[in-house]
This record gives sequence, C-alpha cells and structure tokens, in this order.
Amino acid sequence: MEYEAVIGLETHVQLKTKSKMWCGCPNAFGADPNTNVCPICLGMPGVLPVANAEALRLTVLTGYLLNCEIPRFAKFDRKNYFYPDSAKNYQVTQYDKPSTARGWVDFEFSGLGAGTGPDGLTRVRITRAHLEEDVGKNNHFDRHSGVDFNRGGVPLLEIVSEPDLRGPEHAYTYLKALTDILVRGGISDCDMEKGMVRCDVNVSVRPKGTEPLGAKIEIKNMNSFSGVRRALEYEIPRQIAAVQRGETLRQETRRWDDVAGITEPMRSKEDAHDYRYLPEPDLMPFCPTDEWLAEIRAGVPELPLPRKLRLVREFGLPAGDAQVLSDNLPLGQFFELAAAGFQQPKAIANWVINTLAAKLAESAGAVGDLKFAPAELRQLVELVDGGKISLKMAQEVFAEMFASGEKPGVIVEKRGLAQVSDTGAIEKLCEEAIAANPGAVADYRSGKVAALNSLKGQVMKLSKGKANPAVVGDLLAQKLAV
Ligand code: ADP
Ligand code: MG
Ligand code: ZN
Repeated sequence: MEYEAVIGLETHVQLKTKSKMWCGCPNAFGADPNTNVCPICLGMPGVLPVANAEALRLTVLTGYLLNCEIPRFAKFDRKNYFYPDSAKNYQVTQYDKPSTARGWVDFEFSGLGAGTGPDGLTRVRITRAHLEEDVGKNNHFDRHSGVDFNRGGVPLLEIVSEPDLRGPEHAYTYLKALTDILVRGGISDCDMEKGMVRCDVNVSVRPKGTEPLGAKIEIKNMNSFSGVRRALEYEIPRQIAAVQRGETLRQETRRWDDVAGITEPMRSKEDAHDYRYLPEPDLMPFCPTDEWLAEIRAGVPELPLPRKLRLVREFGLPAGDAQVLSDNLPLGQFFELAAAGFQQPKAIANWVINTLAAKLAESAGAVGDLKFAPAELRQLVELVDGGKISLKMAQEVFAEMFASGEKPGVIVEKRGLAQVSDTGAIEKLCEEAIAANPGAVADYRSGKVAALNSLKGQVMKLSKGKANPAVVGDLLAQKLAV
C-alpha cells in the first residue's frame, strides 16, 4: 500500500516591536542575561500588564497579509504550567478567541503537493494566528542551570497552518514563503538563528487517497529552515516503515537531533498537559475599531508574488523580468514610474534590469539617490526608438545621466550625438562611399550580399558614427539596385 504524509506547521515568530508585550523593557537580542527585565516581565505579584499597541497592530497587519479574518472581539488567556522558564507559572496567550483566523498563503512550488491554489500557485490554509508572550530561556552549565528572562514577555505570533502540506520540500517552501511575507511586511526579521522563528512540525501518514488523519506526531527543536526539511525527510519514511511493519503509531512529541539527523521520543500522549486555560483577568479583550482596521488595511504593502503577477499582467513582462522587479522593490518602483503609459515597457525593463542595476551595483548606490528621474530614462528609450540615437550611443548618454543627472536630450545636443536620419545628408555620404569602393560595389552586384556591410561601414565612418544605420542600409541597397 502507498502512504502519504500529512503535515501542519505551528510557526512562532517574534514581533519586531521596540518594547516587550506588557512592559517597557527593550525587545532586543543579545543583551547580557537578565538585563532587559522588570517586575512585570519577571511576573512579580501585584504588577499589571499593559498591552503593547504596536504588537496588536502588527498582529492585525499579519492577519491582512495572510488573508485572514480579523474578529472584532479577541481576548487573552492564561495557559498554566509549572516550569522555570515562566516565573508566573502561566503564559499569556489567546485560546478560544484569537486575533486572526482562517486565511491562506499562496506561493510558487512545483513538487509533491503543488498546485492547490489559483493561477498555478500552491495554497496552504492558515487556521489562526494568535498573539502570545515568549517565556524565558533555560541555560544549562556544567554544575548548574540558569534562567535568562530577557526573552520573557517578548511578543510572539503563533501561526498555525491547516494540515495541507504533503512533503519536506512543500513544508520548507511554505515556511520560506510565510517568513518572506512577514519580513516584507515588517512584522518580524524572522532570523531563525537568533531564535526569531521557531517551528513545531506536526506530521502523520495515511494510505494515499484516504481522508482520515493518522496519529499526529509533533517534532520540536529544529533551529533552521533546512532543519525542518531534514527532520521531515527522516520522520516520514520512519512512520511509513512503522505502519508497513504493522505497528500502530501513537500521538507523541519527538525531538529533532540535528547532529545525529534523527528524531527521538520526547513525551507521549500520556504526559499531555492540561493547561487549565482561563481568561486573563488583568487584560481587556481586544476589540479593534473599524477606523483602526481601515487604517492598518490601507498600509498593507504589496507582496512580491502578487506584485510579480501584476507586472506580468499589466506590462506584459516575461516572468523573469517581473521576478527581478518584484524582488528588488526600489528598482521595480523605478521601472513602474518610467514605464507607466509607455508602449514599450520591455525596453524600459531591459534598461532597468541590465544597465541601471549594474551601474548601481558598481557604485554601491541606491535607487533613492539616483540623479535622474524615471521619466528621463523613458526619454532615453524614446530617443533610441525614434532613431535619434543608436543603442550604443544611448549607453554613453546613460552613463552621463547616471554621473551628472543631465537630461538625455541635453546630453545628446551637447555632445552632438544625434544620429543623422536626414536622407539627403546620408545620400551624399552613400554616393561618396560607392564612388570610393568600386570593388565592393562590383562584389555586391555579382551577388555577394555581404559586401553591402563593408559599404555601410564606410558610410558610418564618413558620418563619424552619427548616421542612422538602418537608413544607410536602405539607401545603399536602393542605389545599388539600379
Ligand atoms: P494542538 O496543538 O492544540 O494539538 P492541533 O492538533 O489542532 O492543535 O493542530 C496543531 C497543528 O497540527 C496544526 O498545524 C494542524 O494542521 C496539525 N495537525 C493536526 N492534526 C494533524 C495530523 N493528524 N497530522 C498532521 N498534522 C496535524
Ligand atoms: Mg501543538
Ligand atoms: Zn519588563
């Protein structure tokens, strides 16, 4: 019998706020142990938490970025447990009334599990995203252990996916897509090495084509995105082999050992916690107003993938160009301003992606510091298009625009670069070239078509490179035909 994996991810991300969730302590990484603490985040008796408005805003913004609903009533709950990492003996979280729920993430993916979304994209549904506080960190030394509460009370968002994932690569790509969205949205820096993202992976197997879910096995302790993938690459075959041997898998939590590359049992269903959730009495329910939601909604940035699809749709760009112009937002914005209403957006995209990007890289410059405006790049493309200057000259003009910010038309005038398209003037030069090169003329007339190029070269030389080569070619062919 063939088996398939069913995977759901619980992803915790640290919100990018200046201060912690309930107090004014800095939300900062890397400080000496227990230096960013106060009576509130140490859970002293009698203190009162005050919710961090920026954390609430980032939570709602995440909801919008993940296509979630934002209920008008959410609340906080205490999850009770006894462990040294929480001095309060409970963690404040959202239990039955989370701040956001029922959304999805669409991303590009082509492996096992792909194609569940619109436009050929792959969709993973989001069950909920709720706000909670981080807890302290236990550090173990040779002969003793210590608790660092710097991280205690830091705002976290737990983003729970539906069990929509089917394989290691699928889960890895989803995690990348999700965190890319959060980084772009300014929600979190999502640096997994700094512990800003932690991910629990839930995985089960079932006979392919069947509906019921198998026993859920939760894997913890992955500390990189590729760790998540490797853990699944190990765990899925392990589960399939077990059921094929006739074993019945039981719900359990396993620990990923990154060095050994294996998962090992941590705790089973028998020691499952009863957290005795209860509403947090010290915090008001969170009831966002329509005005506030509208304000946050208006600030939702366009994400790279929808942006890429729009650039393809609106400007007819190839996917590769649209990718570059959505990955690099300033470059893309410059392109859009230059190409708006222009009939040849592809020509502008070429300039932006090749020439402009290269120049910027060379000079370690930023789009924001450019000395010329997007409309001036369009003018340059129009000069080439109208046959006023050659593509080669345009490169020179561009270099000058980049260096001095001078307008392309002015540079062309000043340097006398304008290409001569005036047939009268070019005709004279053609006649000169024909008279001076009887050999080439004879060759051409005897059928050696390539001889035209040498004549063309002569005319270009006579014009000091300013003649419009297309006009020269046409005129020479005309004259030699008679
Ligand atoms: P809890 O953490 O409260 O037990 P759930 O079990 O409902 O919550 O879900 C936790 C995560 O596990 C979710 O991402 C969900 O999609 C996933 N999940 C639930 N059941 C299974 C299963 N049988 N196999 C794989 N993943 C599952
Ligand atoms: Mg869980
Ligand atoms: Zn504090």
